[in-house]
Amino acid sequence: MPQSPKIAIVEPPLALSRHFIDYPWLNLLAACQMGAVLRDRGARVQVLDGLSPGGLDNDGEGLWLGQEEEKFLERLGGLRAQVVVVHLSAYLKTDWGLEWLQRVVAAVAGGARVLLAEMTAGGMHYLARDHDELASRMTGVEALLLGQCEHSLPQILSDPTPRESNSRFRLVHPQPVDLHALPPPAWDLIDAEAYFSFMRRVLSAPARQAPYPAQPVRSLPLLTGRGCPYDCIFCTSSLGLAGEGRRLRAVPLTRLAGWLERWKSDLSLERVIVLDDLANHDRRRFDGLLDLLERLRLRVEFPNGLRAELLTREQVVRLARLTGRLKVSLESASRRVQNEILGKHLPPAAVKRVARWCHREGLGLDVHLLVGLPGEHISEVRRTLSMALELYDRYGAAPLVQFPVPLPQTRLAGHADVELVRQLARDPYPAFQHRPQSLAGAPRADYLSRAVATLRRVMTERRRRKVIVNLTYLCNNHCVFCAVGDRPRRHAETSLVTKALEKYHQRGYELLDIDGGEPTLHPGLFEVIERARQLGYGKITLVSNGRRLAYRAFTNRLVASGVDEVLVSLHAHEQRLQADLTGSPDSFEQTTAGIANLLARVGDSRQVAVNTTIVRGNLPYLGELGGLLAGLGVRRWNLQLLTPFGRARGDQLPEQELLQASLLSLLAAPPGDLEIRLVNCPPCLVPGYEQLAAADFGKGARDMVFIGQPAENLQDYLSGRRRQDRRCRGCPLAFACPGWYHFPESP
Ligand code: SF4
Ligand code: SF4
Repeated sequence: MPQSPKIAIVEPPLALSRHFIDYPWLNLLAACQMGAVLRDRGARVQVLDGLSPGGLDNDGEGLWLGQEEEKFLERLGGLRAQVVVVHLSAYLKTDWGLEWLQRVVAAVAGGARVLLAEMTAGGMHYLARDHDELASRMTGVEALLLGQCEHSLPQILSDPTPRESNSRFRLVHPQPVDLHALPPPAWDLIDAEAYFSFMRRVLSAPARQAPYPAQPVRSLPLLTGRGCPYDCIFCTSSLGLAGEGRRLRAVPLTRLAGWLERWKSDLSLERVIVLDDLANHDRRRFDGLLDLLERLRLRVEFPNGLRAELLTREQVVRLARLTGRLKVSLESASRRVQNEILGKHLPPAAVKRVARWCHREGLGLDVHLLVGLPGEHISEVRRTLSMALELYDRYGAAPLVQFPVPLPQTRLAGHADVELVRQLARDPYPAFQHRPQSLAGAPRADYLSRAVATLRRVMTERRRRKVIVNLTYLCNNHCVFCAVGDRPRRHAETSLVTKALEKYHQRGYELLDIDGGEPTLHPGLFEVIERARQLGYGKITLVSNGRRLAYRAFTNRLVASGVDEVLVSLHAHEQRLQADLTGSPDSFEQTTAGIANLLARVGDSRQVAVNTTIVRGNLPYLGELGGLLAGLGVRRWNLQLLTPFGRARGDQLPEQELLQASLLSLLAAPPGDLEIRLVNCPPCLVPGYEQLAAADFGKGARDMVFIGQPAENLQDYLSGRRRQDRRCRGCPLAFACPGWYHFPESP
């Protein structure tokens, strides 16, 4: 540069979509990196930091990141610089964000050269903007610099081509940067203490869940390399760079060591947020990076994830000590989709391996998945979602499922309607999580929405694991459909039950159901409840036929024992039918009295629910039964479909059409506003209420402890009698639903 101009790099506050992805709070890395490059070339540089004085707030229209706009504009108006470089963030919400940017540009004092620079060094969700629209809105701007600008900005400053007034801005394309010669980001150009506080405020803001913890606060973003050798169909990384420019380039570790040592001593740095698109491409180099972090006692986050197949067991062990949570991208569990559609070429087995290692090391794992790609078969979507559930159930990994969004200039955009791509570019972010798009040859959008909603629902239901102990197989009823069947009529030994409670509690089970037979007949019931409370079970539920609850002294003791919830079984609206179904003439009177006693004593009527098993005999009277329950003050009603266990027989099953009609009418207008839950109901039986029925797949997180027999996972136990058939082909819930119940005598 011929002279030493005064250059201001402006990092304006950001107007963002509520659903933005990636990490705009780390934008200051780009500003400080650019500042370092310009300063190296003799410029006098200032960074006007509009982020650090603020936080992340809900602004009604979207999220506002950074300082209040009026205060920022006032600071901007006071800038005195010959060149003003305004950071054009990839994350700005179109319309609202661009209007804001227009005001920023307009507020720059007259006489300065104004440049817009994207300064994008990486990130998979870079949004290529409509340059014509930008040009028409950003008057007074000399040039728009695309992508990474460390080369192009100094060039344009040293060779200014006079710009005619009112002419359209110049478009400057990116060039790859030599990372061997790149100076470290100049963090001294901003108030680092203010930036640390800003990050703490943002990462703990209620407006949005942060991708990594707020602590330790003294954290700086870092790019150890740029580029990516893969060419995933959805990715915008390295856009604008071709061939050699896309090659993965890295800052030499010796240079990184110098940078980190300096920030550690000058800024008391505690953690780095590594923003590379692919930080572990080279195993030996990644080992070297971990060595460096360990030597300097720095923690690390990799919010863009690591390639699972390149991670070693030893690296995961080391990462468990260095990072709060790991992220890997699987995208698809199908090798064909990986290789032929995605271009990611990642072996799915590697993700399972890493999930197993993380689980052993107690390191949380997020797994990114993508369903709905062009040319992807439904069976492949199903495989991906099944694997997501398996990773969640077996290893506690968190599957983060998204839909492919055809951002402009990606390969994916070639499979979408031009108008759709244009529309999406205005605000693509809600589509990633919530709105599958119509892509050529992709599974239908409604299929994808329902499948992903089911996965999310099932995971929510399985978040807390439950153990169900059968306390006894004795019972004072003899129900015609009893699942206990011909199991030996005896109590479990109390000491064995409490041992089982201890074992499950140690394994992280938080919820307990005490079931039977009839558990209120067991002499050790209160001892078991007491032990469960001591152990700290989060919720203790008793499942009972309710007959002993007719005795007030017993109910008083039960309520005082610390049981959190009681599920009482009542199958009929009147004495005779209840007697027929339970084999006990007194059960109607006692059970209804028991429910009334219980409701009179518990603090909250929601602690009580009634279970009804639906059979041919009581189906016509469910409305009356619901009315009776509502009259008793019951608020929760569990309708259970008959399952082929114990004494239940196929000829007790209601006709399917009648069952469906009855369920749908109860769900549409529940008697007395009862909150109905469906148990053992294939979701397809209740169109419109599938998600309600799918909540039952939470049983995958329940273990059942039998008397004198090995424990079993409840879902697996029930699935032994369920089968998918031709009706299940193409069903969006089939990855989680084991199908229809089959009674031995049914065809
Ligand atoms: S009340 Fe329950 S345990 Fe007792 S016979 Fe009926 S279904 Fe079986
Ligand atoms: S998998 Fe089969 S049984 Fe289950 S909801 Fe789908 S169609 Fe119904």
